[in-house]
Amino acid sequence: MTHILIRGAQTILTMDDDGHELQGADLRIRGGQIVEIGAGLEPGDAQIISAAGCVVTPGLVNTHHHLFQTLTRAVPGAQDALLFGWLRALYPIWARFGPEEIHTSALTGLAELALSGCSLTSDHLYLYPNGARLDDTIAAAAEIGLRFHPTRGAMSIGQSAGGLPPDALLERETDILADSIRVIDAFHDPAPGSMLRIGLAPCSPFTVSRDLMREAAGLARDKGVMLHTHLAENAEDIAYSLERFGCRPGQYAEDLGWTGPDVWHAHCVQLNSSEIDLFARSRTGVAHCPCSNCRLGSGIAPVRAMRDAGVNIGLGVDGSASNDMGNLMAEARMAMLLQRVASGADAMNAREALWIATRGGAQVLGRDDCGQLAPGKRADVAVWDVSGVASAGSWDKAALVLAGPSQVRDLFVEGRAVVQGGQVVTIDLPCVLDHQNRLARKLAEGL
Ligand SMILES: [Zn+2]
Repeated sequence: MTHILIRGAQTILTMDDDGHELQGADLRIRGGQIVEIGAGLEPGDAQIISAAGCVVTPGLVNTHHHLFQTLTRAVPGAQDALLFGWLRALYPIWARFGPEEIHTSALTGLAELALSGCSLTSDHLYLYPNGARLDDTIAAAAEIGLRFHPTRGAMSIGQSAGGLPPDALLERETDILADSIRVIDAFHDPAPGSMLRIGLAPCSPFTVSRDLMREAAGLARDKGVMLHTHLAENAEDIAYSLERFGCRPGQYAEDLGWTGPDVWHAHCVQLNSSEIDLFARSRTGVAHCPCSNCRLGSGIAPVRAMRDAGVNIGLGVDGSASNDMGNLMAEARMAMLLQRVASGADAMNAREALWIATRGGAQVLGRDDCGQLAPGKRADVAVWDVSGVASAGSWDKAALVLAGPSQVRDLFVEGRAVVQGGQVVTIDLPCVLDHQNRLARKLAEGL
């Protein structure tokens, strides 16, 4: 059984219930679990990892992503568009993807996340062109070794019915539900310490029918899996909801069974106070994606108000076509900065931002076994070297979101090293990136 002792950390930020911060402390991992934290632990037969000059945190948790979009970063025609125009520019490119594109882009996106300290990520794959399957991303996560919550997304209403996506990217709703059952039965592991949990995630209220939203909710509850979609992302989204459904997105979600502790919605930039109250009462989660919201000009999500009301919030890098990066530590910094833009310099501090990026995300994904460093919790651990240039001169090295590296030195997931010395060690990343760039060039040449 793996036995690792991370020794002599400058600070361990536990994110436990009491917010303990330990100076000069060690952390012991056995198998996939944290078993002991404290100063001067006996090494025994442990593999020793020196953490001198490092801050140790829980692995970060990403609650919203579209990994496939790493193949369409910074596409010229989509660089400056609002959400709906951005989607119209990208759909025809995505329609040419297949299993190879889905798998390679997922490996790339997962590696990028791992380097930024992320140990657990969800993914929202809502298009399955040319034989692509959710299985392609699941294989990528198993190769790199990240804990993975992929969601079976879907689109069923296209241009011919007044929707946004081209009809070629749509699936029949009966096929969507059948494949949802297939992937849950094949892959979902509800056990504590699970490396893989499936969720159901029709793309958004404007790309599937009301019936599919309702049926997906019923199926998710039958099977004990979570529900995820995009909601209240920007003003266009609200206008569409009022015009098509005669109500705001919060009402729409509630009417269709899309509130509760087993549901989390991406964005929620435009929630009003009664919707915030609804989310707090029903313990519905939110994936806050600050860089994407800036990139698409969607607005500033009312995170301070949501947190004060008791809404569970995690962070999401969102797809790499609307960010165009996938660095979760950068996302935590942006989350903090945006609340300050909206509400003043005391609206969110560095530790709260990091708490949202770790514990908050784990809560949103229903994982009380992740997101904190405490005996009995899973051994998802990020080691940040604060001896370098980004932290030099910092008076509070644990305030990583203010002054600190945006990439990890080491990352352990379930007690296994995924990043060591700043390099991904589980896959041949240069080879993956070479393949990724060739696929991107091929897609660009086909335009
Ligand atoms: Zn998204």
